[in-house]
Amino acid sequence: MQIRKGIPVSPGVAITQALVVDAADQPVPRRTVPPERLPQQHERLESAMEASCRDIEQLIEKTTVELGPELARIFDFHLGMLRDPHLNGQIRQLIDRERVTSEFAVYATMRALASQFVSVDNPYFRERVKDLWDLERRVLSHLMGSSPTDLGQFPHEAILIAHDLTPSQTASLDKTMIRGLATDAGGRTSHTAILAHALGIPAIVGLEDITSHVNSGDTVIIDGNQGVVIVNPDAAQLLEYRQFIERLAEFETSLDELSRQPAVTTDGEQITLWANIEFPSEIHSALEKGATGVGLYRTEFLFLSSENEPSEDQQYESYLQAIVAAEGRPLTIRTLDLGADKIHRNSSVQHHENNPFLGCRSIRLCLQNLPLFKTQLRAILRASARGPLRIMFPLISSIMELRQAKMVLNDVMEDLEEQNIPFQRDIPVGIMIEVPSAALQAKKFCREASFVSIGTNDLIQYTLAVDRSNERIANLYTGAHPSVIQLIREVVRAAQRAKVDVSLCGEMGGEPEFIMLLLGLGLRKLSITPPAIPEVKKIIRSVSLKQCERVARRCLSFDSDREVHNFLREEVKRVVPEVIDGRIYLP
Ligand code: PEP
Ligand code: MG
Repeated sequence: MQIRKGIPVSPGVAITQALVVDAADQPVPRRTVPPERLPQQHERLESAMEASCRDIEQLIEKTTVELGPELARIFDFHLGMLRDPHLNGQIRQLIDRERVTSEFAVYATMRALASQFVSVDNPYFRERVKDLWDLERRVLSHLMGSSPTDLGQFPHEAILIAHDLTPSQTASLDKTMIRGLATDAGGRTSHTAILAHALGIPAIVGLEDITSHVNSGDTVIIDGNQGVVIVNPDAAQLLEYRQFIERLAEFETSLDELSRQPAVTTDGEQITLWANIEFPSEIHSALEKGATGVGLYRTEFLFLSSENEPSEDQQYESYLQAIVAAEGRPLTIRTLDLGADKIHRNSSVQHHENNPFLGCRSIRLCLQNLPLFKTQLRAILRASARGPLRIMFPLISSIMELRQAKMVLNDVMEDLEEQNIPFQRDIPVGIMIEVPSAALQAKKFCREASFVSIGTNDLIQYTLAVDRSNERIANLYTGAHPSVIQLIREVVRAAQRAKVDVSLCGEMGGEPEFIMLLLGLGLRKLSITPPAIPEVKKIIRSVSLKQCERVARRCLSFDSDREVHNFLREEVKRVVPEVIDGRIYLP
């Protein structure tokens, strides 16, 4: 049994088999197995080799039909290698001699053979190196239960263990089979983490080397509340966690009952709780959890989960679906926030950049690619004729950027008018405040935006110069930093003075320990990940605004994030004793 600790990013507990996926260019870690489990490694190898042979035979048949027998002969080499007794013998010897997993034995043997091929002064052998790699990945994919890049279909229920996943891989995960997610890399608000939370599956990131400690097929417990992964748990641990899962389900049901009650403080202040969504299909469950609108619809996920860039009509259909699901409630569509870690695999508009988070991302990318931007704006405006919508521009860092974006929007409106296509002329146009330069100029922005929404995920990373997705500096990434708190306060004040609607849509708004602080800073509207709504509502219903204002004043007097954290933890525990380490636990 091994216990590994990482950064908990999505709560919940699951117990099932692990499925380890390694990126294609990632080395397979050397993992040893106890002698009594060596026969199992041989059996796994045999079935992976047989499955690979079947794949190749099918490929030969298909190629013969589609391209002719000459080309199909390319795969004779693959089949010959798979059936080669010498190669099979070498792999088996390595398993026994070094007591390693079959994955590692296949990887090490194939790589050694590939280097021999490279060193031979013969073009035929050199050409075969690529075939060897291809073969190696095929056998490994059978051993690991899935091809490293195809995460859309899983043969069985699994906890996915990976070095890292891109947001687009996470978006295309087979949600019916994935019970949990644990990765070596990633930070608290990496987009992969946000998606896992939205999907409602327990997730832990930043485990550093979890892929070296788990084999596919191992039994794994993932505890997304405490950020713990237990590999091959003993009987006592299994029993304890099975009982915990039952109690957790009961507790969550009791929290869900809150969904029908209003989010009001003990002194009668109504707080608005909206949902952050990535797909229209999430709206229904968000409303069930108690959301009264959508404060952030991250539209780029339609791009990330599709093979090609979606057309205007496809985008329009998605927005319409969201309007129908929201049933007349406020729906805030954020324009594309592509770039940085959200890169479309077939994108024609994205380039390699040395500092992608500081690069051509989000509104910058849209303003440099007007056809892409205008297509989206047309789709949003057309949908606005069918229900209430708000448009929100992300990553605005200067007034000129907002003016430019509004000019493009105007152009699109004029085109639609000329074509007699209906839309909502007075659609509210707001911005995200997620860059310090915008926070510092909030007063000016409030004159030109219908609403502002504070995006703390990026505001924290840009204020503190801490990459939100880098697990090595995850301890430095925190909304409790006094400078972040000050910036939030300035934005809220500026918006209140200008009577402009202000909300907060970063992950901070869904973290129990920050709720009192945020209300105390003057926020009355939070847009959060739907699974967090019951927890947040429970806290709101347990505190008074007076208490919250006192908490905010104390926080503003502290010098360091540590003092803020310690203080907030104690305060929230006083009002809701079930909150431990920033999460609500069973009584
Ligand atoms: C944010 O930055 O706080 C935010 C909500 O946007 P995203 O997480 O999509 O960057
Ligand atoms: Mg952001």
